[in-house]
Amino acid sequence: MTQPDFGSSVVPRAVATEPVARVTTGATPAEALHRVFGYDEFRGNQAEIIDHVAGGGDALVLMPTGGGKSLCYQIPSIVRQGTGVVISPLIALMQDQVDALSLVGVRAAYLNSTQSVDHRRAVEQAYLAGELDMLYLAPERLRVESTAALLDRGTIALFAIDEAHCVSQWGHDFRPDYLRLSMLHERWPTVPRIALTATATEKTHAEIVTRLQLEGAQHFVASFDRPNIQYRIAPKNQPQQQLLQLIRTEHPGDAGIVYCLSRASVEKTAEFLADNGVPALPYHAGLPTHVRAANQSRFLRDDGIVMVATIAFGMGIDKPDVRFVAHLDLPKSVEGYYQETGRAGRDGLPSTAWLAYGLQDVVQQRRMISESEGDAAHRRTLSAHLDAMLALCETVQCRRMQLLGYFGETSTACGNCDTCLSPPESIDGTVPAQKLLSTVVRLQRERNQKFGAGQLIDILLGKRTPRVEQNQHDSLSTFGIGTELSEQEWRGVVRQLLAQGLLAVSGEYGTLGITDDSAAVLSGQRPVALRREPERAAKRSTRRAAGATSDLAPAAAPVFEALRAWRGAQAKEQGVPAYVIFHDATLREIATVRPTDRATLATVTGVGEAKLDKYGDSILETLAAAG
Ligand code: ADP
Ligand code: ZN
Repeated sequence: MTQPDFGSSVVPRAVATEPVARVTTGATPAEALHRVFGYDEFRGNQAEIIDHVAGGGDALVLMPTGGGKSLCYQIPSIVRQGTGVVISPLIALMQDQVDALSLVGVRAAYLNSTQSVDHRRAVEQAYLAGELDMLYLAPERLRVESTAALLDRGTIALFAIDEAHCVSQWGHDFRPDYLRLSMLHERWPTVPRIALTATATEKTHAEIVTRLQLEGAQHFVASFDRPNIQYRIAPKNQPQQQLLQLIRTEHPGDAGIVYCLSRASVEKTAEFLADNGVPALPYHAGLPTHVRAANQSRFLRDDGIVMVATIAFGMGIDKPDVRFVAHLDLPKSVEGYYQETGRAGRDGLPSTAWLAYGLQDVVQQRRMISESEGDAAHRRTLSAHLDAMLALCETVQCRRMQLLGYFGETSTACGNCDTCLSPPESIDGTVPAQKLLSTVVRLQRERNQKFGAGQLIDILLGKRTPRVEQNQHDSLSTFGIGTELSEQEWRGVVRQLLAQGLLAVSGEYGTLGITDDSAAVLSGQRPVALRREPERAAKRSTRRAAGATSDLAPAAAPVFEALRAWRGAQAKEQGVPAYVIFHDATLREIATVRPTDRATLATVTGVGEAKLDKYGDSILETLAAAG
């Protein structure tokens, strides 16, 4: 079987390959893994999942971002009779996915609203002629009967429902067209289905099962641990400077994603980074579509771009070499945080997840919830999400243990998060808490006043500011009783009392009041534990630098750079992202092994038959020239 000639409309001409020996229907999954993808072994429960689906079973797969979900439907599509149909909401990424598959010799195409009539016809023809291993389909295509009729006239190997959490109406990725995917089972009851998601909550799982009629599917739940990601949560003081410091000292030249809450702060931060020599681009829903698309494309194609974005950015971005994900604002839930940070380090190399968090975050988010529309139950859900996120920020235990615990997994201290690397102390904060709370109570009872954190701290520190004098707050009995702590430390106390639900925030100015639980603290019945920041944040020397060349042998580093340059030229010529040619991990291995013949090159992870054929000679020449 040869690659059908679609012309440049289906597969960009430069990318189309004609592999010598195509792995086809009937091969074993292990053969496909070695020969097509060039990988040695399956990861985690991939083998089990692939066997199950290749054997005709339905599956629900829950795996973290970067866990290796794609192979779970790609290999069954290759080895089963017919075409694997992948339903994906990620229209903008379909071309890249098809290019990547074409490069390893898998015959793939897509149908979505962005293509021309001619292009669509060519794909339909190829499908009907049995010349496609995989067909990517936008969910809205299934709205029209002609698509279903087309599928009927060919052979469907399986349905893969990617980003299956899009069926959940309460999640922020909800796609109405996903609801109609129950028709897959009704119309093609014998075709196996595999639904995949990286969203780990019980509620979402249950919803996927009922809405997609997957009651009979086997569930495969992978560990959600991402050991190569170092989790760090730092006190926020000058977030932009802190971010710049992080990039300059630990991730110079690396690709990364910076998440901000608002469009305005996205714009400002991107500008700040660009002014400071970091190649940064903005991404948010307020930008014109073509600007967003251009920025996304540059992030994927160029090396070392930093994308500053709202959470609108990221789903389905499978760039493997994102070396850091930074949050400048507190995420609204642990689920969101974990999904966003999971975009770092898909290639398994060391990566950083860094979050800056401060008093204002808590004030702002608590206020947003109390002012949010929707009923009390909805506000309770939002509060519960925020509380879990705050507990993660304020923990004195291993961050990873806490994260995995949230997803129902037990683990031991990881040694690769900030609290493991420089443990904070847990101190008895009952007395400071009482001083602060009684100031709040006195203001309320004696003066019928409410103030924000700044004024409370000024009172405790005994500062005679104009506002203190004007309000005669220097006559309060708590005036000046808190000089044992610095202003910064008091802000930490306020933040933690807010996080623990011992203070409540309200109104436009974020004024503070007591809660139902505060009384027990004031009466001495309830002790308060507080987190004391370690002297210094995680020292750089205690962690592995995460840059691409960091732990390469000195002799291999220039070879790796030569290979990177070679890859860049190839990518440009073929109009595909560099990582589609080879991942950094593969180039590193080549630079270390330095093969001098094709047989040795073929043993490198990530070098399959089609790529060996296409690039083998050119790589060997590059290695020879690198001396
Ligand atoms: P997910 O879709 O779960 O986020 P991907 O399918 O994109 O993850 O896989 C993440 C990365 O891991 C990809 O770069 C992929 O090529 C690589 N990968 C997946 N499975 C294996 C394996 N068995 N051996 C080596 N690399 C793998
Ligand atoms: Zn840890």
